[in-house]
Amino acid sequence: MVNGHSYKDRKSPNTNLAVLCSLNFREPFDKPIAYAKKVGEMTNMLGAGHILVQRFGDVLEGKRTWPKELSRSNVVPTLTDAEAGDITAAMPMRPMVEIIEFIKAVDEVVPGFAAEETLLYAPELKFYSNRVKMDERFETNVARLHCLGDSSGWTRGLMMASVMGLLMGERLADEN
Ligand SMILES: Cc1cc2nc3c(=O)[nH]c(=O)nc-3n(C[C@H](O)[C@H](O)[C@H](O)COP(=O)(O)OP(=O)(O)OC[C@H]3O[C@@H](n4cnc5c(N)ncnc54)[C@H](O)[C@@H]3O)c2cc1C
Repeated sequence: MVNGHSYKDRKSPNTNLAVLCSLNFREPFDKPIAYAKKVGEMTNMLGAGHILVQRFGDVLEGKRTWPKELSRSNVVPTLTDAEAGDITAAMPMRPMVEIIEFIKAVDEVVPGFAAEETLLYAPELKFYSNRVKMDERFETNVARLHCLGDSSGWTRGLMMASVMGLLMGERLADEN
């Protein structure tokens, strides 16, 4: 699976970020981890065991990216082991649409973000199994101990971790 990997001394001219979509299941199916694993298996199968990479422009055109096209691209993949292909053949429609809409929305404030040559790797999967039990005021069963962000098990991303910090800060400010 794809994930961030940073070296202190080795730098790349590219920048990257993960676009994560949350899926919740209740009735009649309630096994999100099994579901996500299947999505991962499907994508890896299409990449013959490698990470799939596709140009954003090809996603919008409904075509796969060919290795020859990728080799001519101005954006050179940092992950050299990735296979050019069709992410959309394995990614369920709902997260795919959300990812496309997110990229287009960010392009409004960061022009070029939705460039045809922007590379999409897939899949990044995150599992949320262990969560610290808390009420809506972030109170645990230990008085005055609050667990926020990733340490709480409730978040796995920048936005939601930040929101938890903001809500806790507002609460502390109110108390004071
Ligand atoms: C390689 C990588 C790539 C990622 N990419 C993305 C991405 O593209 N998009 C996205 O949404 N999310 C991404 N994430 C996840 C995101 O970074 C985290 O969800 C988010 O940073 C969690 O924020 P946080 O404040 O809960 O914890 P953290 O950001 O981990 O902050 C915890 C802080 O506590 C400090 N600390 C630890 N122990 C102590 C101690 N004893 N005393 C004092 N300080 C201490 C740590 O040094 C750290 O600064 C990525 C994570 C990694 C590791």
